[in-house]
Amino acid sequence: MTAHQKLYEGKAKILYTTEEPEVLLTHFKDDATAFNAQKRGQIVGKGEMNCAIATHLFKLLEAQGIGTHFIDRPAPNEMLVKRVTILLVEVVVRNIAAGSLCQQTGLPLGKVLPTPLVEFYYKNDALGDPLLTRDRLLLLELAKPEQVEQLTQQALCINRILTDFFQQCNITLVDFKLEFGLTSSQQLILADEISPDTCRLWNQAETDPNRRVMDKDRFRRDLGNVEEAYQQVLERVLATKIS
Ligand code: ADP
Ligand code: MG
Repeated sequence: MTAHQKLYEGKAKILYTTEEPEVLLTHFKDDATAFNAQKRGQIVGKGEMNCAIATHLFKLLEAQGIGTHFIDRPAPNEMLVKRVTILLVEVVVRNIAAGSLCQQTGLPLGKVLPTPLVEFYYKNDALGDPLLTRDRLLLLELAKPEQVEQLTQQALCINRILTDFFQQCNITLVDFKLEFGLTSSQQLILADEISPDTCRLWNQAETDPNRRVMDKDRFRRDLGNVEEAYQQVLERVLATKIS
């Protein structure tokens, strides 16, 4: 499958059409952004590492019955995916308090949540991806009521699968962001990527709050050794077989 024309260039990936109208080629970039693209940089090798990690995790989820857009990985930093219409909702699942949850609620960093928290954010860079209430989500017609229920259940199911998997990697899955889309037959499937760009991952072998960070927070907060952290995640993920 060859790339035809550039459809869209985002912050982390470029989408190309292919000879197959229902199939897109995704090129994973080394570019890194944070704080709604106010901070920009490069993480050397990130494109290949994220593509490899996302591929492994999509295969894991497919094996557990979750529908994803993943088709194939024809090159180290390229993924063939089913074309979908992305819902303009970012679904965030949190197991442990971090990031904006701490800033907005005062919960201390690292507090284990009694049950996983599912949140919806408006996928709108111009508005700074604001937190949505269910009613605002419905008001903006970002999803239908039954889809909100489906997104919630899918997100919780994915959280159980990924939490178990990362546990086997000696990594704590703190939180993560998902994007879903509708296929031409109106099937709701998981799209975009799952990677250290979109997850908070803490190394269980470290207790220090900075040393344990294995995800994009190293870039956001200038913690150093960003490439090394992504590489560690990749190695542990690939070494953990999909059961
Ligand atoms: P962004 O800058 O919006 O984060 P990315 O660079 O991460 O963008 O990804 C490019 C775009 O591709 C995103 O808007 C994402 O929603 C979209 N996308 C991901 N998977 C698919 C898919 N299967 N079909 C269509 N669009 C997709
Ligand atoms: Mg993105």
